[in-house]
Amino acid sequence: MDIKKDGGKYVLKNKKNAALQTAENMRSDFEWAEQVRNMNMEYTLKTGKTKKFRMDIFGCQMNERDSETIAGMLTEMGFEEVPKDSAADIIIFVTCCVRENAEERIYGHIGALAHECEENGAFIVACGCMMQQPHVVEKIKKSYRNVKIVLGTHNIHTFPELLHRYLTTKKRVFEVWEKGEGVIEDLPTKRKDRHKAWVNIILGCNNFCSYCIVPHVRGRERSRSMADVLAEIKALAEDGCKEITLLGQNVNSYGNDLGEKDLFARLLYAIEEIEGIQRVRFMTSHPKDLSGSLIDAMKNCKKVCNHLHLPIQSGSTRILGLMNRKYTKEHYLNLVERIKAEIPDIAITTDIIVGFPGETEEDFEETLDVVRKVGFSSAFMFIYSPRKGTPAAKLEQTTPPAAISQRFRRLTELQTEISEELAKRFEGKTVEVLVDGPSKQNPDILTGRTRTNHLVNFDAQGIEKGEFADVKIIQARAFWLEGKGGTGLE
Ligand code: SF4
Repeated sequence: MDIKKDGGKYVLKNKKNAALQTAENMRSDFEWAEQVRNMNMEYTLKTGKTKKFRMDIFGCQMNERDSETIAGMLTEMGFEEVPKDSAADIIIFVTCCVRENAEERIYGHIGALAHECEENGAFIVACGCMMQQPHVVEKIKKSYRNVKIVLGTHNIHTFPELLHRYLTTKKRVFEVWEKGEGVIEDLPTKRKDRHKAWVNIILGCNNFCSYCIVPHVRGRERSRSMADVLAEIKALAEDGCKEITLLGQNVNSYGNDLGEKDLFARLLYAIEEIEGIQRVRFMTSHPKDLSGSLIDAMKNCKKVCNHLHLPIQSGSTRILGLMNRKYTKEHYLNLVERIKAEIPDIAITTDIIVGFPGETEEDFEETLDVVRKVGFSSAFMFIYSPRKGTPAAKLEQTTPPAAISQRFRRLTELQTEISEELAKRFEGKTVEVLVDGPSKQNPDILTGRTRTNHLVNFDAQGIEKGEFADVKIIQARAFWLEGKGGTGLE
């Protein structure tokens, strides 16, 4: 494989005018990649073996997407990916710092690999949001000697050079860029699935919700140009992709930094024209930025799925103020009402934080009230976890942990009841499912998602991963639907 065969080079896009800047340092990343690939070829010629890597991915879809880039680079450099539980020469950790317990788990996993690294000569590469925090890098330097390379979210593209540096010097490499400049295009990708794909449209976040570390570790908003996004989606469609999920911390801000208005809605209309793509999803939408033109686009574009993830975080306007969310409970409820009026069969999901500092019983009741009024089809519910470096971490926690746990239990019980109740509407109906393949829990049955993003487990013959199936729902449960007798639609 010749990675220069298309005259390919990584391209840095200027965020203001999207003018192309051919960055010399980006171009050289290809040369580093080629050198590592040559080292791997020599190793294979000598031993008849191939160097292997495996990945441990934490956190959100942005990390899943970044991990596809890392896997793409390693594959181009001649490494072979193996499953998570197999022996490998390089173990990649794509880390997340959104919640404290995720960080603790990651330290635990890295520590547990000390023996494997020593025995087999394997080493760890740590990247992702957690590595953007200097205290984390210091801790890794001191306490986790099996981590040989650390890189941040802004310099993923430098990975071939960092890997080459470590392989040739055997000296540990720590390189974390503080800021991202524009958007780097044309990085290699090794996609997990052929039938569905994540497509980044905007990186970073400008919102600074008081509890959130993301703007501190992923930087300010940088939109990809619409031409680049559409070119990527066309190429995916040509390769057999049927469903795309547009990704951003706040997709509703897409284009603001390019001086464009309503670019996200325009993007949805443009994707509607791409042959082969049959479903479009997006996440995440900030309620303060969800415009009327976006609701129109969701209604008018038949490919846009009738599912919206719209994080509320709290139902109390007072707590929303402390969270710096910049909307009120009433704004959120009005918005939902408007969306439901335009798209009556829409399924709305959300994120909710319980126990934000100073949350009173009355505040929590407001959250329960929103949950009852909206009728979320499901919700990601979390107990508040302070993140170092965020304004909320300085707020005093006045609610006892036992009261927070009790609120969390009440919320999850209520949401489970509502999810189950809403899912009942599917019983006896036939739904379109995009099949993801055999279920992990029971390989004898198939699993997939409806347009409303409900998980369906069903019993059927002769249907392959990546096909659409018509499935009759025989029983609705809170977190999944049980179906029978799917028939291929194609
Ligand atoms: S919108 Fe708020 S919660 Fe979401 S990534 Fe940005 S700062 Fe974090």
